[in-house]
Amino acid sequence: MARKVLVLEDEASIRGFIEINLTRAGYEVIEAESGEEALEKLKANPDIRVALLDIMLPGIDGFEVCRRIRATNTRIGIIMLTARSQEMDKVTGLMTGADDYVTKPFSPAELTARVDALFRRAGGAPPEQVGEIVQEPFLLNTRNRTLEKNGQRVKLTQVEYSIMKMFMENPGKALSREEILDTVWGRDYFGEVKIVDVNIRRLRLKIEDNAQNPTYINTVWGFGYKWGF
Ligand code: CA
Repeated sequence: MARKVLVLEDEASIRGFIEINLTRAGYEVIEAESGEEALEKLKANPDIRVALLDIMLPGIDGFEVCRRIRATNTRIGIIMLTARSQEMDKVTGLMTGADDYVTKPFSPAELTARVDALFRRAGGAPPEQVGEIVQEPFLLNTRNRTLEKNGQRVKLTQVEYSIMKMFMENPGKALSREEILDTVWGRDYFGEVKIVDVNIRRLRLKIEDNAQNPTYINTVWGFGYKWGF
């Protein structure tokens, strides 16, 4: 299954940033500098599953590109790239048929998570086979079950590794302690949710810059934990 993503962005630096990060996440990136070029590339690559569309462009704008894509293609996932100052863009984008929007400036983790979600919905398997989840400064290798932080290996137990994987696959999502217990220990595990807290405490000592003031694994009081920056 092709993992093609179209990136329409006229600013070369932003386009490059997106291209590097999506490629690293296992996607094949097709680049376009203008709306006209994007429509041509889509025609040449009908197996593109997700399109990222910048709005402010020379020539036809991102909304018009979105409208024209949607006129013939309801299956492709479309994410608009909006500027922070242009709140109205979101509404307009969704009205013209976009599925989602990402506000600039965005983090690689945020972008990849949005593309993954749409890719899954558009009928493809997320590219986990590539074997890496990159969320700076972390790199999780799902093939040999290892974690690096800033390029340095962090030694983890298998349980800690499984928790990290669950976090990194669900960035920004509040996960209940029961959910973590079920996923990591298995539904038939006969223990207390307290074991989750104990493992998280140990994991924080290993991965946080300051475990007393964690910034990666955040506590959601009375519920569980959230992986987020
Ligand atoms: Ca632009």
